[in-house]
Amino acid sequence: MNLRSLTLAELADLLKTMGQPAFRAKQVFTWLHRGIRSFDEMTDLPKTLRAALAEEYPLYTPQAVRRQESARDGTVKYLWRLSDGNCVETVLMRYHYGNTVCISTEVGCRMGCAFCASTLGGLVRRLEPAEMLDQVLFTQLDSGLPISHIVLMGIGEPLDNFDNVLKFLENVNSPLGLNISMRHISLSTCGLVPKIDALAEKKLQLTLSVSLHAPNNSVRDTIMPVNRAYPMEELIAACRRYYQATSRRISFEYAMIDGVNDTPAAARELLEKMRGLPAHFNLIPLNRVEESPLKPSSRAAVAEFQRILEQGGIPATVRRTLGGDIDASCGQLRRKYNQSAKGREE
Ligand code: SAH
Repeated sequence: MNLRSLTLAELADLLKTMGQPAFRAKQVFTWLHRGIRSFDEMTDLPKTLRAALAEEYPLYTPQAVRRQESARDGTVKYLWRLSDGNCVETVLMRYHYGNTVCISTEVGCRMGCAFCASTLGGLVRRLEPAEMLDQVLFTQLDSGLPISHIVLMGIGEPLDNFDNVLKFLENVNSPLGLNISMRHISLSTCGLVPKIDALAEKKLQLTLSVSLHAPNNSVRDTIMPVNRAYPMEELIAACRRYYQATSRRISFEYAMIDGVNDTPAAARELLEKMRGLPAHFNLIPLNRVEESPLKPSSRAAVAEFQRILEQGGIPATVRRTLGGDIDASCGQLRRKYNQSAKGREE
């Protein structure tokens, strides 16, 4: 068990069972979330307590087995090795508004989207809260760059790991820890409707991002298997409920795929479906994945799609692609590493 997976309240309970006074929890939490590598660094704790903690709960620090920096835009991609040998990716992007990390929430993914590299090998396991937090913490320590924003858009489906993601959010938001504001966090989902409702109940100030990628069920069914469980009408209805509960505008991701979802008619169909829902569209020209025949839309098709949405009253931005020279999109680096002989040897 990694102590960084515990919330402050859980840590307080644990320390109580070890006979410690209440104020210890804050001390230990603060040290843990600074990324100390040994309990001996907790200089304001009694030596006996440090020894007892070290004995029971060895600290694990993820190792960066790959670190690729883009020569074009300073984007850095990390491949972290977890305590059981599995690897996950984290991407550090330098935006004008602050340094942003894109973190993984699972090892692999079971959602099966046709265009995504992360799902090709299926789901291996879900990440613990600490394994999400450590991606932020150790990216910050390794790069020396203060992280102000987080997107849960790496490998995995965050709402398929709901409880652990919520604990991670509570911890990363803690003033005693990394203290990252909920308003600076985006959570992206392929559309697990019951979990969107459960998240709405928490009334968090984060941004919900929904991976839509299609104007109707017949297209969405072919590229996103999740749509057969939760069709678009249900998904959009859940988005409306989410907005009512939180007053937070929803952000929709739309990967533009040549000849699949990028026609002017598709843009008009979307406008119709979104009527009355405050939304923002991120149009992303598809990143090519070796194993898939799907291709990105032309620049002209993307521009026309954007024009139609905006004219219909939905703000739409075309996502700048960062790190194109370093396999910085979902799951590509982990996949290459796992496939290479080197990955197997190390
Ligand atoms: N499982 C979550 C979050 C991880 S994926 C989700 O589905 O939202 C983050 C985003 O990248 C999603 O919008 C996903 O659909 C998109 N994505 C995956 N592969 C892509 C590719 N090859 N090109 C462009 N976007 C892709």
